[in-house]
Amino acid sequence: MNFPIHPASISRFMRADLPTRPHQYKMLVDGKWTPSLSGETFTRQSPGNDMIVGEYAKAGAADVDLAVTAARKAFDAGSWAYMAAEDRARILTRTAELIRQNADRIALLEALESGKVISQARAEMDWSANLWDYCAAVARTLHGDSHNNLGANLIANVMREPIGVVSIITPWNFPLLIISQKLPFALAAGCTAVVKPSEFTSATTLILGELLLEAGLPAGVVNIVTGFGNTAGQRMLDHAAVDMISFTGSTNVGKLAVRASAGTLKKVSLELGGKNAQVVFADANLEEAADAIIEGAFKNAGESCNCGARLIVERSVRDELVERVVERARQVQVGDPLDPAAQIGAIINQAQLDKIVGFVDGAKRDGVEVLLGEGRVPSDAGLFVYPSILMGVDRHMPVANDEIFGPVLSVMTFETAEEALSIANQSEYGLSAAVWTSDYETAITFSRRLQAGTIWVNTYSSGPAELPFGGYKQSGIGRENGRAGVEEFTELKTVQFHFGGRQNWWANGRR
Ligand code: NAD
Repeated sequence: MNFPIHPASISRFMRADLPTRPHQYKMLVDGKWTPSLSGETFTRQSPGNDMIVGEYAKAGAADVDLAVTAARKAFDAGSWAYMAAEDRARILTRTAELIRQNADRIALLEALESGKVISQARAEMDWSANLWDYCAAVARTLHGDSHNNLGANLIANVMREPIGVVSIITPWNFPLLIISQKLPFALAAGCTAVVKPSEFTSATTLILGELLLEAGLPAGVVNIVTGFGNTAGQRMLDHAAVDMISFTGSTNVGKLAVRASAGTLKKVSLELGGKNAQVVFADANLEEAADAIIEGAFKNAGESCNCGARLIVERSVRDELVERVVERARQVQVGDPLDPAAQIGAIINQAQLDKIVGFVDGAKRDGVEVLLGEGRVPSDAGLFVYPSILMGVDRHMPVANDEIFGPVLSVMTFETAEEALSIANQSEYGLSAAVWTSDYETAITFSRRLQAGTIWVNTYSSGPAELPFGGYKQSGIGRENGRAGVEEFTELKTVQFHFGGRQNWWANGRR
């Protein structure tokens, strides 16, 4: 049964400060704003209103080589790596302040390029700034270990050192937020970086570059190239002078990063896809759960690695819960990303829209009941879809297993906790999951056995800077945020200090 729930088309919301022609951006290499060596450029069309909003330098391998050389030189000079943490922290704190001061400008560009709604883009500015603040604190408290238990003639220091030059590659769904989960952590550790944002959302990473220079970051410490994955991105993965790859994006490209890293055995840190479960037991607070299910499934138009795309609910409360979810979902506003009232904005590009609609159509063909959502929203411009709720999904169907990356919720049921666990853990991904229950023992035992890097109990999607975030299985390798997030960008060095007479190896017959 379909409910025609939303306005027949998207109303346009014009802002006085919209650019009248595309802004032209350059890349940041060795502290200077520079075009690509080839002079080639590419543009970004806003998925919300079809305007061309940005024109970018199109980096090739040679541009990446220049950026890596600058980062290498800045790292090897040692002035950043050995700068007192107090001074490095001051630059990170200043960057956080500048993000807050420029939040409206950056949020507008995020909404225009990614299609996310402006209210959410604005909230992500504070979240991002907070990560820079956090890293300033961690930079000053990062330390190793000392060992005084090694015998009379030996003490040792285990020091954390910055790993070196890092290639940072980011996706389009949370442009400023995801670079803020990587770059300040790398900088806090003392690393230098070459950064490539997604070709769909390059603007705000370049603005961050401006802010970093304003905050006093030395030339060459952060270099930003713009361009495409299979050229500029691939060179960043392959380059021999790069020590580490920090990648967020699809699992397929993550696997390419691992393969490329084998050439020079770079460290690889990966934040990849997800097909996250919200497991609801019959004793849960269904009112709270219903709200979180909507947020988890539809926030950022479902274009989120943390999208709570699978609702696994105890059969006895399925109808009651689903009724509440549908009731709320009918009120979710799909709209122009610039409309302050909109809750679901535009889809990033035509291919992604086709993918989402294709999954819903496929589920219909498989006999799934579409409780809500009718595919594409008619509009004079832009790319919009209705949020969809799919009832009666079988655990073996594509919509139960594949990452759709759109506002599509698949509902499955269970009779026993074992069955719920088996459905939740059948995914090849393991990024996050939620458990809803009022029984503490169920919460503890269930969260211990769920295979995911983040488990929420009776909530969804919170992410304080202090807490590590990352995936099990094909959702990734390594962790971001928290102390672990800075430690990812370090090597351990063991230094042993011997004193007193040393036993002669040869003369004493020791072997
Ligand atoms: P994507 O993998 O297509 O692209 C991500 C980045 O990789 C882009 O900058 C792109 O230019 C670059 N790239 C593409 N091919 C490359 C190559 N051959 N070599 C080097 N770089 C290359 O992903 P996307 O479509 O931008 O983002 C969506 C995906 O990201 C989803 O799967 C989502 O789950 C995942 N994601 C994960 C997290 C997380 O924290 N786990 C967060 C956000 C997004």
